[in-house]
Amino acid sequence: MASYQKLTEPKEGSKIKVLGPNKFEVPNDPIIPFIEGDGIGADLTRAMHTVINAAVKKAYDGKRKIHWFEVYAGEKAVEKYGEGQYLPEDTITALKEYSVSIKGPLTTPVGGGFRSLNVTIRQVLDLFACVRPVKYYKGIPSPVKHPEKVDMIIFRENTEDIYAGIEYRSGSAEAKKLRDFLISLDSKNKEKIREDAGLGIKPMGPFASKRLIKKAIQYAIDNGKSSVTLVHKGNIMKFTEGAFKDWGYEVARDEFGGKLITEAEVAGHTDKIIIKDRIADSMFQQGLLRPDEYSVLALPNLNGDYMSDALAAQVGGLGMAPGANMSDTIAVFEATHGSAPKYTNQDKANPGSLILSAVMMLVHLGWKEAADLVEKGINKTIGQKYVTYDLARQMEGATEVKCSQFGERIAENM
Ligand code: NAD
Repeated sequence: MASYQKLTEPKEGSKIKVLGPNKFEVPNDPIIPFIEGDGIGADLTRAMHTVINAAVKKAYDGKRKIHWFEVYAGEKAVEKYGEGQYLPEDTITALKEYSVSIKGPLTTPVGGGFRSLNVTIRQVLDLFACVRPVKYYKGIPSPVKHPEKVDMIIFRENTEDIYAGIEYRSGSAEAKKLRDFLISLDSKNKEKIREDAGLGIKPMGPFASKRLIKKAIQYAIDNGKSSVTLVHKGNIMKFTEGAFKDWGYEVARDEFGGKLITEAEVAGHTDKIIIKDRIADSMFQQGLLRPDEYSVLALPNLNGDYMSDALAAQVGGLGMAPGANMSDTIAVFEATHGSAPKYTNQDKANPGSLILSAVMMLVHLGWKEAADLVEKGINKTIGQKYVTYDLARQMEGATEVKCSQFGERIAENM
């Protein structure tokens, strides 16, 4: 048993047992750690708890209950643990030990030595997949004609690619050294890399790519999805992005018994999951023009970053976009927007992203009935145009309500 400060000791409930990769035993009274988050985080978390507790109670008639266990990160952690303690060891231990957790947005500390607290959590826990479902809720203002055709789930690789942070500034001694080394490998690099170039490294390998793609395919199987699309820029970057695509087909063949078929044969395989690939730029067009032909997407880090936000915009923006960062044993569900500091404690912000992240969490726990109830509550509440300011200002005839009122109405509407 880990030693926590008394401050963060759970009083009731049981631990989710991790039996192996992607195998869990979920008790009826799981302890779920939560990080409230900075800025609007406290308001959002309160609303999320209201909604999720109501759904679980209604779905299981009191036989199941989540025991929320507060752990600290960000400004609240500094208050509790002392200066510089933005991400206490206690918190990391809890996220690991309890396997499933949820967090509000965290403000990136200025000068705290962190690139971002969120990135640090992902790295420390090796949460290699960023999972973002993108789907339309009727009534949400959207910039496209048919937002309802978008129903995709994005699996973005979280640990490699140009995001690895290996970069050397233009004019630095390191950049010069690296350039010299690259010229020693191939003299043509002398023309390709100008002397004043800053340099960045894009590491991508089969280990990280394959585990991500495997997770995406497994998700498609478990959730009855029709296809998994590998999105890459392999026509240009052959040994990184192109290899990502090749590793994807290898995973499908070696781990799931996949077989190669021709384009013409696809129609005859409606009971099978089709693995296909698209060049990233073409996928951005397809996302707008033929979104209904795509279901699960697997992407390297940078493509995944762009694609997640572009698709989220099609269905009404980041305010309602849920997300999770996962490994095969740990999942941290989170709001996808930031901490919007200007609305701190005003009970004003939209809790939709955090509530929908909690819906993903319920599905992950296998508590589908409760997840469905929340979705029903959200659909009805939006249908009634009873929404927070960000949506109200774009919807004709809407009633603008507080964050807490939106949550309470969702609970009533289940
Ligand atoms: P932000 O997402 O906090 O805000 C961008 C805009 O969206 C603002 O106008 C804000 O008021 C609005 N907004 C955001 N969430 C909203 C909600 N739920 N309801 C209604 N309106 C909402 O982005 P930012 O201002 O660039 O960042 C603020 C802080 O959050 C920074 O410190 C940043 O590093 C951090 N951040 C954290 C996360 C995370 O925790 N995952 C993500 C992004 C940014």
